[in-house]
Amino acid sequence: MSDEKVHTGEALPVMEDFYTIQGEGFHQGKAAYFIRLAGCDVGCHWCDVKDSWDKDKYPAIDVNVLLERALKFPSRTVVVTGGEPLMYNLSALTKAFHLKGFKVHIETSGVCSVTGIWDWVCFSPKKFKEPNPEIYRLAHELKVVIFHKSDLEWAEQHAAQVSPRCRLFLQPEWGKQAEMLPLIVDYVKTHPRWHISLQAHKYMDIP
Ligand code: SF4
Repeated sequence: MSDEKVHTGEALPVMEDFYTIQGEGFHQGKAAYFIRLAGCDVGCHWCDVKDSWDKDKYPAIDVNVLLERALKFPSRTVVVTGGEPLMYNLSALTKAFHLKGFKVHIETSGVCSVTGIWDWVCFSPKKFKEPNPEIYRLAHELKVVIFHKSDLEWAEQHAAQVSPRCRLFLQPEWGKQAEMLPLIVDYVKTHPRWHISLQAHKYMDIP
């Protein structure tokens, strides 16, 4: 696959793609085709997909091939995740999937410029790299991973910048769940505009 095709977004480095149930956030419980793009330089120390960081380990796949694979399944929702998927120009991908009637969702740290037309933008800010300010107006969902109790205050700083339509989620970091979940439960009870997101796919032992 040529570098030129990756540059234009006609092909993208893919770590894995699979049909599963969305485990997190607003769309939790819905069947969707997931495309995990490779490449990320955000550097979260608790990252659970560190294997995605090096894009050169993975093949670039034509977006039409990804579309053909997704069309084999009945859901018409595709979730593009990473890595940090917005390292690439995603306009060709969203156009191709929209033409076949898909709703196109993205999960992003928001550090890059946004390309593509999205039906759902899940913005999950990371302390290790500042987001691009344009993400605040585009986000349909703000999902903040809570690793330390001080992250609750940090979550509010992001919530103050998103649009009023944006749904707010607090999600305990998987390895800190026993410690953080009770704090999050108490917090949501006193700040009910926030909801709790749990990584339900991990409980179900599915990808
Ligand atoms: Fe991992 Fe996501 Fe952080 Fe990148 S932004 S290091 S993929 S958790």
